[in-house]
Amino acid sequence: MMEAVKRGEVGCIIVKDFSRLGRDYIEVGSYLEQIFPLMEVRCISVNDHYDSEGVLGTAGGLNVAFKNLINMLYSRDLSKKIRSAQMARARKGEYLGGFARYGYEKSQEDKHRLVVDPEAAEVVRKIFTMAAEGVTISGIVRYLNDNGVLTCVEYKQRKNSRYQHPGGGVKKLWGTQSVRSILSDETYIGKVVWNRSEKSITTGKRMLWHDRSEWVVVDGQHEPMVSEELFALANERAKPKKRDRSGVDMSGFKREVLFVCGYCGRSMVKKNHKYCCRYRTCGTDTECRRAVEDMEKLEGSVMEYVRKTAEVMLGNSGRKDVGAERETLGKKVDALRKEKERLSAEKMFLYDKYRSGV
Ligand SMILES: [Zn+2]
Repeated sequence: MMEAVKRGEVGCIIVKDFSRLGRDYIEVGSYLEQIFPLMEVRCISVNDHYDSEGVLGTAGGLNVAFKNLINMLYSRDLSKKIRSAQMARARKGEYLGGFARYGYEKSQEDKHRLVVDPEAAEVVRKIFTMAAEGVTISGIVRYLNDNGVLTCVEYKQRKNSRYQHPGGGVKKLWGTQSVRSILSDETYIGKVVWNRSEKSITTGKRMLWHDRSEWVVVDGQHEPMVSEELFALANERAKPKKRDRSGVDMSGFKREVLFVCGYCGRSMVKKNHKYCCRYRTCGTDTECRRAVEDMEKLEGSVMEYVRKTAEVMLGNSGRKDVGAERETLGKKVDALRKEKERLSAEKMFLYDKYRSGV
């Protein structure tokens, strides 16, 4: 919405109440008092009896600030309440995810119960069996991609058009992370696991991984897809690198991406003085294998491009243009200054006329 406001396409915003505008009272306040007036956008909040056109010069601003503060405290309180209600339901063994885990679907009778989805379950069992037989994670990934098995995201999107996933545009491939996450997920041995991580209430992004002691794990809630023995053996053989992410704050985490693979669109990683696609080993004849570039060569050509662009911008022809532009702008400023003087003289004249009652 703010993009449309910036483009000047919005003349008036009508909301049910201020909490619809934002959860943070400072943010809402700055929209109402600075940004919207600057953009000449009228703002109406129906339940708060607020209309920015009628509020100027009254004490309405104070009223609004209090309402925004209360809205923010209320939504924080509400999210805590929702969380504790969810914990209680998870302890009863209800599945609370928005979408079923890959390999399962939500039961038609009770959307908090999972039932096996035979087609995807086949793939899950294959992954566990291969791992138990000693195939490496990247070996499993290669097998899946070489055999054209739909990725979890593609499969879920095909089954449910409501399912959305960020990272559109990149070619969908199985990766080590998705296989690892299937192998380590106890949902496949019939357990409901909740509270593994926490999301930010404002951004909705995952920001904190909890220690296992804080998880809610309830056994025997749905049909297991693999036996506990197979699960244990597969995990033992695949030996996932144990990364203790409990208590790690991910909110400020941002990966820097310098180069992306021309074949799949994923970011490239540095390895042995070369840049290569992260997904180069995901299939036997994937095009990403060819996405290997010498580090110095690649960085050198980027620098060359930057230098050339800078030269063009600062070149002699460019300087002349700047000089000419400065001259025209200077003339404009002079003209406007004269106009200002003329108008203020006229204003004084009109004021005198008004005072003398003419
Ligand atoms: Zn690639």
